[in-house]
Amino acid sequence: MKKLIPLFILFIILCGCSFSADTDSESFFAMDTYMTVTVNDKDSKSAVKYAENEILKLDKILSAHNKNSEIYKLNKNGSGKLSAAALELTEKSLEYSKLTENAFNPAMLSVSKLWGFPDKNYRVPAEKEIKTALKTAKPDKISVKNNTVKLNLKGMELDFGAVAKGYTSDKIIRGLKKRGTESALLNLGGNVAALGVKPDGTEWNVAVENPDEKGNYIANLRIKDKAVITSGGYERYFKKNGKVYHHILNPENGYPAESSLKSVTTVGENGAMCDAFSTALFVMGKEKALRFWAESGLDFDVILYTGNGSMIVTEGIADIINSDLDYKIVKRSDYE
Ligand code: AMP
Ligand code: MG
Repeated sequence: MKKLIPLFILFIILCGCSFSADTDSESFFAMDTYMTVTVNDKDSKSAVKYAENEILKLDKILSAHNKNSEIYKLNKNGSGKLSAAALELTEKSLEYSKLTENAFNPAMLSVSKLWGFPDKNYRVPAEKEIKTALKTAKPDKISVKNNTVKLNLKGMELDFGAVAKGYTSDKIIRGLKKRGTESALLNLGGNVAALGVKPDGTEWNVAVENPDEKGNYIANLRIKDKAVITSGGYERYFKKNGKVYHHILNPENGYPAESSLKSVTTVGENGAMCDAFSTALFVMGKEKALRFWAESGLDFDVILYTGNGSMIVTEGIADIINSDLDYKIVKRSDYE
């Protein structure tokens, strides 16, 4: 009996060391927004620290506004040798720009600057200025060769603001997985990505903000291994003479997109693609966005919020959505 007690205690200690996990969460500011990283792991503190450090590193490389970043220097010099992450994001952005026929356009920074969106020094530019700046916003004039990116139009400037957070969440989730983490939730300024499920074994709950009522939600989604990303004019805008001007620009004319939508939420496993598409589908507007969803053959779903409590939900998320609003479910077969 005497021998059994120490053995029993040793068993408890060993089990405790190898199986017990705890949750840790940190909030910090990066990529021009507040972020929260939550991890459930045997050593959650170091996993959260790892995620925070990686995000800060990527921010330093990818920001179009930090004078030391690779993208800032590329914009200034017209060409530059990029690190693996910046290069990969450039290539992905060119792909998303092609897929969306330029509704997602990563070369709009010169136009965005005219409106004062990057530094919040807002103004309504003259049409002539917009037309001139728009001539530099041509992604097909970007070339990539031997790790070097060239902007082959004078004045062209890249801005990955519409895709960098989704790309970052993909990279962090991959990194956490490699370290052995099985359960985490990243909230990168409203761009949410889940790894696995909650510690209690149920799916993560992600609420989608109501653009019409701050602090209220249009829907809740139960997700596992997916990103949920929302774009909308309500996220950043200014008013001049009673008119609202928001930050998502229509690459065809350089003005805030006159969207029939209040917000677009994309849901899928590929965070970078979902981020680029949330912006692109907002630019496209309701009809074009739904057709794109139905015909692209790509694996993602959407919630299109059209305002005043109305929304459209695509079939792939019909089973994981919960909402008090009346909504219509659309199917791919509706578009055949
Ligand atoms: P998001 O919140 O992901 O929709 O990204 C919006 C940000 O992307 C803006 O604040 C701009 O920096 C940039 N942006 C604006 N219009 C576009 C566009 N049509 N395509 C790509 N990026 C854009
Ligand atoms: Mg986006």
